[in-house]
Amino acid sequence: MNEKILTIENLTVSFDGFKALNNLNFSLDTGELRVIIGPNGAGKTTFLDIITGKTKPTEGKVFFKGRNLRPYSEHQIAQMGVGRKFQTPRVYLNLTPRENLELACNRNKGVFSTLFVKTPPAERRTVSGLLETIGLPHKADMKANLLSHGEKQWLEIGMLVAQAPDLLLVDEPVAGLTDEETERTGELLLSLAESHSVIVIEHDMEFVRQIAQGQVTVLHQGSVLCEGNFDDVQSDPRVIEVYLGQEIDHDEDASLENIGGLLEPVNAEMN
Ligand code: ADP
Ligand code: MG
Repeated sequence: MNEKILTIENLTVSFDGFKALNNLNFSLDTGELRVIIGPNGAGKTTFLDIITGKTKPTEGKVFFKGRNLRPYSEHQIAQMGVGRKFQTPRVYLNLTPRENLELACNRNKGVFSTLFVKTPPAERRTVSGLLETIGLPHKADMKANLLSHGEKQWLEIGMLVAQAPDLLLVDEPVAGLTDEETERTGELLLSLAESHSVIVIEHDMEFVRQIAQGQVTVLHQGSVLCEGNFDDVQSDPRVIEVYLGQEIDHDEDASLENIGGLLEPVNAEMN
């Protein structure tokens, strides 16, 4: 069995008595790509906030590379090798992709990472290698504000990878992207998963279908509802009920489309 890069035990996070996460258990193998889905309010963003140290557990423990993260600040945890991609791209718009990546490569991870890294950190990459990875060599020297939304997302993913994180956390990377950009984002994440451990949170079921090669985790009311491969999860009556419940009770907007995708028969063929 693979070594675990991340282990979460009996995690509860209370906000004024409301349990956003409730006795949650989770683990991720080193090198694994895991997709996490779940209806609005399930606790997905809080889950990432806990791993990055932005929020501390009310109860329970989070271990990253075997180390209990409790005493460490958000900054220290980033230096230990946890990289997070937020939903909105955070790139320097008045700089070029090349300049953005140069900045990211030169940012010092600090002595902290060298002190605490047990396994060798993911290899640092060159700027030109990163430009290739994110598919932007031809736009390397134009101002980033001229990039499409998707290209900005890829640039930010490139800037994260430049920091050589061991674990990449990606929150809803395809919101607002075109179909073609969505597919290319999937390809990018799959290629990064060859050399990183990755957690992707996503609503778009077609996208989940594209990237979920292994386990998918479904969160509901702050706990893990079920885990399995995409087909099993998609046809799990509990998952269908949770998504339908959301349709009836709360949401009429974005989730409807997702529920449609969730209930569709699985196409063997993907284009
Ligand atoms: P998701 O990302 O799955 O939509 P969140 O993790 O954002 O869910 O939120 C889970 C629940 O916790 C929601 O009901 C939300 O309102 C609540 N919550 C999240 N952050 C806070 C906070 N800082 N204070 C109070 N309640 C919060
Ligand atoms: Mg969220």
